[in-house]
Amino acid sequence: MLRKDTFTEEQNAIRDMLRKFVDKEIMPVRLELESDPKLVESIHQKLVDLGIQRAGYPSEYGGTGPGSPTTLGIVCEELARGDAGISLSCGINAGFVLQAAMVAQNKAILDKFIPPFCGDKINYACLSMTDSTGGADTENPLLQGRGIKTRAILDGDEWVINGSKSWPTHAGIASVYLTVCSTGYEQGEEGVALIFVPGNSPGLSFGQPEKKLGFRTSVNASIFYDNVRVPKEYRLAGPGADAQFYYATMAGTQWHSSVISLGIMRSVFEIILDYTKGRESGGKPVREWSLVAGILADMAIRLEMTRGAVFSYAYMMEHPEIYGPPFTKDMVAKASIVRSYASDSCVWVANKAVELMGSNGLSPEYHLEKYLRDSKITQIWLGGQQICKYRIANGYYDYYVR
Ligand SMILES: Cc1cc2nc3c(=O)[nH]c(=O)nc-3n(C[C@H](O)[C@H](O)[C@H](O)COP(=O)(O)OP(=O)(O)OC[C@H]3O[C@@H](n4cnc5c(N)ncnc54)[C@H](O)[C@@H]3O)c2cc1C
Repeated sequence: MLRKDTFTEEQNAIRDMLRKFVDKEIMPVRLELESDPKLVESIHQKLVDLGIQRAGYPSEYGGTGPGSPTTLGIVCEELARGDAGISLSCGINAGFVLQAAMVAQNKAILDKFIPPFCGDKINYACLSMTDSTGGADTENPLLQGRGIKTRAILDGDEWVINGSKSWPTHAGIASVYLTVCSTGYEQGEEGVALIFVPGNSPGLSFGQPEKKLGFRTSVNASIFYDNVRVPKEYRLAGPGADAQFYYATMAGTQWHSSVISLGIMRSVFEIILDYTKGRESGGKPVREWSLVAGILADMAIRLEMTRGAVFSYAYMMEHPEIYGPPFTKDMVAKASIVRSYASDSCVWVANKAVELMGSNGLSPEYHLEKYLRDSKITQIWLGGQQICKYRIANGYYDYYVR
């Protein structure tokens, strides 16, 4: 459900290149990747060699200059068709953490943290957001910053950070942690502080990597801040402005979640279309039975509607002169709508595909079970579907918890 001119020739070429890369480098080793971090790392290194990591970073640091959400969407969709965890890592490293600093033009942060992403080696970023207690509160805009428990206090020229986070992706392996803090709950949105913390800061420590249902190719762990001190310049933009950047980050990351859901769904649909063509029942291919055709059609509806929504939202991000800046309640609500629909569709499609494959759907050899495991997580993160609904309602009427 996309107009033919949605993508430029260059973007179509990038999609072709990524599709070939995924078919050659990821598809044949999908199973092994889940238990072999070195293999995952080698794929990331190949993406660095292709120039994916430095794409979108400013040219003065060795990047390729401003990128576009549409291009990032193409890259992350194609990667998620192969492996969701690799797509997730790629999106985070390619800018979801440092994007805000690029927009805010905070030179101290850019000078310190961008160069390694423009180098020849894989480098990881982390969005350190979910507090260990009441994680979803951190991501609930209705609380207007009052739910953030990690504390930052200014002491002379340094921020002193105390608290703990659970589950951030790349915890323990990142060179930079965009840490969501509060300078005081009573200050509400004025107290929201986005502080960039170097990975080698004294007082920063990490838990063991989490074992999890899906996304096994990306690392999650707890992060502990014990009097971590960073220069005061590493706070993104200051009181009020940081809250706006936080909402913009919420919108961007939800959109990224939708892109991943789209990539998973595409792969699942390709697999099941093919399987039900070759598998026979009652003397004809399974997909020629009308009940099965109806389910395949329902899958196509969800897939195409998600594709339309994902790339419409990318267009909206690219045109703030029409749709406004990314932190508005309207933009956050729209991103939440796309994410909510995409993740529910993704789980539905993966679940139905497993059903249509019969017992083979449960076997790793046929890959669907992996996509089903990965799909579930797109409903869980970023506050889950409930907080997502609050963000949506908040875009249509003033809905705050007082
Ligand atoms: C693979 C993966 C990657 C992740 N990556 C990151 C990352 O990069 N950075 C990061 O910071 N975190 C990350 N997370 C953590 C994730 O964002 C949180 O786990 C998630 O937001 C939910 O927080 P919680 O687990 O603490 O749930 P809880 O806060 O314990 O909530 C539990 C349930 O209650 C619901 N709920 C909570 N409050 C309300 C309410 N007021 N009204 C109605 N329902 C409510 C929630 O929706 C949820 O369903 C990741 C998680 C996973 C699994």
